[in-house]
Amino acid sequence: MASQNNPLHIFFFPFMGHGHMIPSIDMAKLFASKGVKATIVTTPLNKPLVTKAIEQFKTHSNNIDIQIIKFPCVEGGLPEGCENVDSIPSPHLIPAFFKATWLLQEPLEQLLQQQKPNCIVADMFFPWSTASAAKFGIPRIVFHGTSFFSLCASQCLNLYEPFKNVSSDTELFEITNLPGNIKMTKLQLPSIFTQNDTMTQNTAKLFAAIRESEKKSYGVIVNSFYELEHVYADYYRDVLGIKAWHIGPLSIHNKKDKEITSYRGKEDSIDKHECLKWLDTKEKHSVVYLCFGSTTHFLNSQLKEIAVGLEASGKNFIWVVNKKKEDGEEWLPEGFEKRMEGKGLVIRGWAPQVLILNHEAIGAFVTHCGWNSTFEGVSAGVPMITWPVAAEQFYNEKLVTEVLKIGVPVGVKKWVGLFGDSIQCDLVEKAVKRVMEGEEAEEMRNKAKLFAEMAKKAGEEGGSSYLKLNALIEELGSLSQHQPILQD
Ligand code: UDP
Repeated sequence: MASQNNPLHIFFFPFMGHGHMIPSIDMAKLFASKGVKATIVTTPLNKPLVTKAIEQFKTHSNNIDIQIIKFPCVEGGLPEGCENVDSIPSPHLIPAFFKATWLLQEPLEQLLQQQKPNCIVADMFFPWSTASAAKFGIPRIVFHGTSFFSLCASQCLNLYEPFKNVSSDTELFEITNLPGNIKMTKLQLPSIFTQNDTMTQNTAKLFAAIRESEKKSYGVIVNSFYELEHVYADYYRDVLGIKAWHIGPLSIHNKKDKEITSYRGKEDSIDKHECLKWLDTKEKHSVVYLCFGSTTHFLNSQLKEIAVGLEASGKNFIWVVNKKKEDGEEWLPEGFEKRMEGKGLVIRGWAPQVLILNHEAIGAFVTHCGWNSTFEGVSAGVPMITWPVAAEQFYNEKLVTEVLKIGVPVGVKKWVGLFGDSIQCDLVEKAVKRVMEGEEAEEMRNKAKLFAEMAKKAGEEGGSSYLKLNALIEELGSLSQHQPILQD
């Protein structure tokens, strides 16, 4: 029988990329705050990120820990020290990175043998972990880190292949059977649906393995809440038949870790207090926040278009750019920052995004539609300008602009992988004005605020995510003969 000394023990094993590690660490903290023993498994060079992210939490909880397994850089054909997607030196090494992660199976199994957890929540990119868990007789739960909507869209595209019936890349097709009559073009789909080179074929194989392992897994944890996308949560569970628990928003539901100023992935390139002070001088809803996640790279020409569009919009802004001081200034129009002094803040590197989004001065969020960012925007009640680039971001754009109706598309036509498409400055200006001014903007803002309230309630006692999380912990407890000790 379980006791305080023998709690339910869960391994959390995130893929080594910031967009996967941040929500997984939040998730581990959330479980730990409920009395579960949470162990985050990562690799030596990713350890400092995890250590910092749980530092504050550890001051009031002993339930969380880290275990390290070696990342096989050299064996996987990567340079030494390349343990995070962030440090892949060139796009052609991306397949090697994914290949290397398959070599993590053996060290993970050694750790499972040693530590004997009751369950493992492993990232979608580790499809082999379902078999590993089975060897030790424990359930593996999948964490995709995206919305129900995206999960459903991607499954429907796979099952029904509606894109095969169009005569051009720009012809609209409807995603068969997906509620909401969602239409896309072939150009907006991930390459696995549209291309056939060796690299894409390998990626397609990986995704097939992910789908297979999902079927054999115990279920899926989704960082979302029911009220936000209940049609798709129901479709995922009832029509696609996948057992799933929605327990989000992970970014705000850690009751014992309320401090949203805590470390999230990287050292901020701006002092948090400076940033807040700057925002404090601005009127409510008067600032546009632009940030494109941890992996998007735009060409200098694209960055210039953004700058010109922002200046023409006449709005205040905070713009996070994936650049360092050493990269020079060619990507900015001459004298841009001087002219924008007091009106616009350019952050080179990493920003305290959740903190910024939750400041009342923020009026809109220009996002690449990575799910963490999108959901952080939803949870902060901020209308969005959607600028998808890669991965499942075009689906999230549809969710924001057509289902939730709390944002407008900037007008990206093409899925491009890592490097951003070319959007002209007038489109940036137009989208910014559309989300910041007038009746339509007001409507979107009001709707976004309602979703933010729902998000908060979902994690509070009796809320949909709160109840699902408790139900999951109880279920895992009874599976492993542990009586979980639920705490709030
Ligand atoms: N993020 C941040 N500061 C930045 C850039 C990103 O804190 O300057 C965080 C953001 O809040 C989110 C994550 O990094 O939690 C990015 O995840 P997302 O799924 O949005 O995009 P990805 O990086 O996976 O493309």
